[in-house]
Amino acid sequence: MSTGEYRCAKCNEPQNVNSLGLQCEKCGYKIFLKDRPVDKKVYSTD
Ligand SMILES: [Zn+2]
Repeated sequence: MSTGEYRCAKCNEPQNVNSLGLQCEKCGYKIFLKDRPVDKKVYSTD
């Protein structure tokens, strides 16, 4: 599996980001979410 897989927070396009300060190649957004399906933590504030 590939490491360093991120998704654009805006268009959700999977991208390989290996350094900070990059922009989405599609929409130019600068916020990326790390694609980690395993790490699903839900905090309940009940
Ligand atoms: Zn984007």
